Amino acid sequence: MEQMECPECGNEIESTEDLEQTEVPEVETDDDSFSLHGSTDLFLCSGCRKPMGVGRS
Ligand SMILES: [Zn+2]
Repeated sequence: MEQMECPECGNEIESTEDLEQTEVPEVETDDDSFSLHGSTDLFLCSGCRKPMGVGRS
């Protein structure tokens, strides 16, 4: 996983241990072209809980 920084709170994210993982039910929105289909894992910044990405298995 590439190191990244939360654009919201500046929390450095070096691994999934810096993220909070949560399971997302079926969600579909057109906001910010952020669409999820089916149940999946969503990673949230552990600092501000901003969604940082979606886990794909
Ligand atoms: Zn953050």
